[in-house]
Amino acid sequence: MIKMDNFLEQLQNYQEVCWKNPKLGQAGENLFDLEDIQDASERLERFATYIATVFPETQKTNGIIESELTEIPHMLAAIEKFDQIETNGRLYLKRDSDLPISGSIKARGGIYEVLKLAETIALESGKLKVTDDYAKLAEPEFVELFSQYGIAVGSTGNLGLSIGIMGAKLGFHTTVHMSEDAKQWKKDLLRSKGVTVVEHQGDFSLAVEAGRAEAEKDPMCHFVDDEASRDLFLGYAVAAFRLQKQFTAQKIEVSEENPLFVYLPCGVGGSPGGVAFGLKTLFGDNVHIIFVEPTHSPCMLLGLYTQLHDDISVNDIGIDGKTAADGLAVGRPSRLVGKVIEPLMYAETTFQDDRLYQYLAMLVDSEKIYVEPSAASGFTSLADLNRHLAETEPFMKTGTHIVWATGGNMVPKDEMATYYQKGKDLLAQA
Ligand SMILES: *Cc1c(COP(=O)(O)O)cnc(C)c1O
Repeated sequence: MIKMDNFLEQLQNYQEVCWKNPKLGQAGENLFDLEDIQDASERLERFATYIATVFPETQKTNGIIESELTEIPHMLAAIEKFDQIETNGRLYLKRDSDLPISGSIKARGGIYEVLKLAETIALESGKLKVTDDYAKLAEPEFVELFSQYGIAVGSTGNLGLSIGIMGAKLGFHTTVHMSEDAKQWKKDLLRSKGVTVVEHQGDFSLAVEAGRAEAEKDPMCHFVDDEASRDLFLGYAVAAFRLQKQFTAQKIEVSEENPLFVYLPCGVGGSPGGVAFGLKTLFGDNVHIIFVEPTHSPCMLLGLYTQLHDDISVNDIGIDGKTAADGLAVGRPSRLVGKVIEPLMYAETTFQDDRLYQYLAMLVDSEKIYVEPSAASGFTSLADLNRHLAETEPFMKTGTHIVWATGGNMVPKDEMATYYQKGKDLLAQA
């Protein structure tokens, strides 16, 4: 049993918290370096002709799966009014909600891991050289090669979509183990692509366990381990390189005078951890990383605060782990990420689910941009940090603020309309 204190009692009571990380800047574990990100980035470039061939929607970016960075001044004005805050900073949205192929940040890590596996198998077979045009991987010879292999993954939804769609396209036998809270349309979509979907009672961890068990029985099956995968992590980290290019193109300066704040929704921690690691590697002290989690599943925060990392789950302090935020209903953090992120994270805030719908609707009304509820969580954090930290840390009110919109464009229209209406109703009551 862990010893409860005031802070843990707040978590236990599902209260929203704003936590400043006392370990920022201390020595941490160096599990990755710049070269690892470069290697991942180059691998994605090798695959670009293949991606453009099999997913024509990526042709306008030449087979590079990347999202736009959009300034959203009207949204900032709406938040200032709604939350009664004031800031001189500028607000941007990183629109992974519109990423091609799977419409969420999982298109980065998930697709990268599958491509890396495919490359390894193809190189070992002698049918591919790294200097080849990878478009040839779309030919039947390779589809047949990959069909001898399996991929298994446990997922709350979006990772399953990325792995499933990419794996099936290459020719792999792909099985996605889903928790019972996963959306029906995601299961239907995957099945329509020829992916085997197995549904499990209970939460995300059980789905992951089932995936692991299946893969262990079969030496030809690769298990994508969302709780500890290096490849997923590096696929996410490449986002930092791409963002740096966008900063140059859009004349956004990252410096001591113009610091960068990045708000990242956190589930198991892989995607925010990878992006954060990449950004810290490139921008050092001038970037401030903020994680955002639901009050019902603040697993990373609990792991960092207690120093127990993946040795503690939210259930251990009586929290139910239930949230409407897709991708964030995770009770236990990654085995890999907590110790990597510990010296890098500036702060974390937690949110109550209802607020997601409010910001989702506000974003539609102010900027005509649709994201899924979990992807609106960064806005709660921007508001909360301004309320709680800006007095002691006035630099919070300057610089460039990026809310990472982690998902959206795969959500069916009627479902999105329901989210929007719920947001409007909540705003009317506020
Ligand atoms: C998975 C997911 C996240 C969080 O990513 P983790 O790697 O699990 O921390 C955030 N938002 C959305 C929409 C997701 O699908």
